[in-house]
Amino acid sequence: MDNSYYSSQTTALSAIIRNPPHAPQTLTYPQRPNVGNVNDNWVFAQFEGNDDAEHLRTKLRSILDQQWWLLNLAPPGNDLDEFVRRKRCLFCGKRRLLAKRAMRCVHRHLDYHPP
Ligand SMILES: [Zn+2]
Repeated sequence: MDNSYYSSQTTALSAIIRNPPHAPQTLTYPQRPNVGNVNDNWVFAQFEGNDDAEHLRTKLRSILDQQWWLLNLAPPGNDLDEFVRRKRCLFCGKRRLLAKRAMRCVHRHLDYHPP
């Protein structure tokens, strides 16, 4: 089978799926569950202008697939620490007085509300 033909068909199909004609606007927070890369547009819109944007988006994509995020469970470790740098939330760039507050900001962007 001609792989390039198959590949171009797949690309065309995924373009249709990802960009339906009346797609709702990108949400300001991710949608649960993150099935079929439903949050791709949202992820792509994050960390714009950050030198480390691609790395951060990769990390973000992996978090959206984690069960603890999906179920709003208590944080298992320091998975979200990368999104705070020098008391600054990397989602919105706002600097907070305390790193803890910057982390709370990160939680809001992720619609993550652990007990
Ligand atoms: Zn923020």
